[in-house]
Amino acid sequence: MVVEDEPNIADLLDMYLREAGFRVLQGATGARGLELVEHHGPALVILDIGLPDVDGFEVCRRIRARSAVPVLFLTARDGEIDRILGLELGADDYVTKPFSPREVVARVKAILRRGQPEAARAEGGLLRIGDDFEVDIGRREVRRRGDAVALATREFDLLAHLTRNQGLALSRQQLLDGVWGADWYGDDRTVDVHVRQLRKKLGDDLPLATVWGIGYRLG
Ligand code: CA
Repeated sequence: MVVEDEPNIADLLDMYLREAGFRVLQGATGARGLELVEHHGPALVILDIGLPDVDGFEVCRRIRARSAVPVLFLTARDGEIDRILGLELGADDYVTKPFSPREVVARVKAILRRGQPEAARAEGGLLRIGDDFEVDIGRREVRRRGDAVALATREFDLLAHLTRNQGLALSRQQLLDGVWGADWYGDDRTVDVHVRQLRKKLGDDLPLATVWGIGYRLG
């Protein structure tokens, strides 16, 4: 999404972004930008600071109150850069005017890549477990011999984590940290319960072994 009140700049960015394969929404005011964020959930916001109604700083603040969408600031003055860096608005990057549209597209791609889990970058996010299972990270879908199997959110996350670390024995604590996060107050049984569900839903063909005294190993 491009929030920029100068039509020439907005159209230029629009053109280059479309050429790079992105769909682009334009908003010429801060208010319109916020409305678009609300209703369209863009993957990234390119945000001009000098807008006719509220400035880009305020727009960013309001976006941040409800969304973690990456924000790339367009700035015209050095003083604005200091503010971007100083206010800790959660801006992901900035470019100064005048800019090269190619440079902006490159920054956009870099930011979007950063936001993706490691595995989703490889092979379009499609991971395999043996011949029978596919884990589609992007679509959050698991298929057994082509048929989708419905998994709960954490079950999917656990399977994805195990798949990314195929062949490695992972302790229950490593799995808790990797899937639930280090600040999760669960215990080992949380992992066991989810493993049991995975085995039940995906069947005996799933090569998920219990490693005694350690935890689990996939593949
Ligand atoms: Ca402007």
